[in-house]
Amino acid sequence: MPVRWLPLLALLMPAATHAAPRPFAVVAHLATNDPDTTKKWLTRQLAEANRHFAGAGIAFEVVETRALPRSFTVVDNIRERIKLRRHFRPRVINIFVVDRVLDPHPSESTRRAARRVGREPSGELAGAHILSGARRVPRTFILASRSASSAVTLTHELGHFFWLPHHRDPGNIMSYGARRQTFDARQIEALEAMARIYRRRRVVRSVGRAGSRGTGSARRGE
Ligand SMILES: [Zn+2]
Repeated sequence: MPVRWLPLLALLMPAATHAAPRPFAVVAHLATNDPDTTKKWLTRQLAEANRHFAGAGIAFEVVETRALPRSFTVVDNIRERIKLRRHFRPRVINIFVVDRVLDPHPSESTRRAARRVGREPSGELAGAHILSGARRVPRTFILASRSASSAVTLTHELGHFFWLPHHRDPGNIMSYGARRQTFDARQIEALEAMARIYRRRRVVRSVGRAGSRGTGSARRGE
């Protein structure tokens, strides 16, 4: 653990007005032909998410990394996305990272969000926010493509995980704009409120500070 990086990372984060709460536990499921690149991608994406969510007192930490069957390396369609439910783990944020996510039949939500920034769906997704089905908790999970993504792909999908809808401003993380880079004040408030609910109802467990085995801290700098 390169402890010497932590003060530097702290400088990069927006000043928190209160003690940082315990991070939400993430289980990463990987299906990839290039595990090294994919793990580095995930570390970078989570560091970016932690930077943007810090203002809402939210952080994420990987507690477990699991290998998915190779058949998921390229997720071809919605049926394949739904099959990911079999690998769902309860009471954590499930992030499935694969090499590519194809989208032969874009949803109306995808079309609308693309149209707002003058684009058409490309037939390939950077990420998706998917209902967990049945009585699974939490109610949704995240699928992300490490190849079609931007720097804030995972931040955007995590925004959906806290029920943020799409946003019209192309500079907003919840838009489909090319230069999306911020949450606005209302979104930060909504994120804080939803995080309180998730903690109180134990929808997502937190990572303990003391005695945490921390198998994959998102802040690890490699
Ligand atoms: Zn979205």
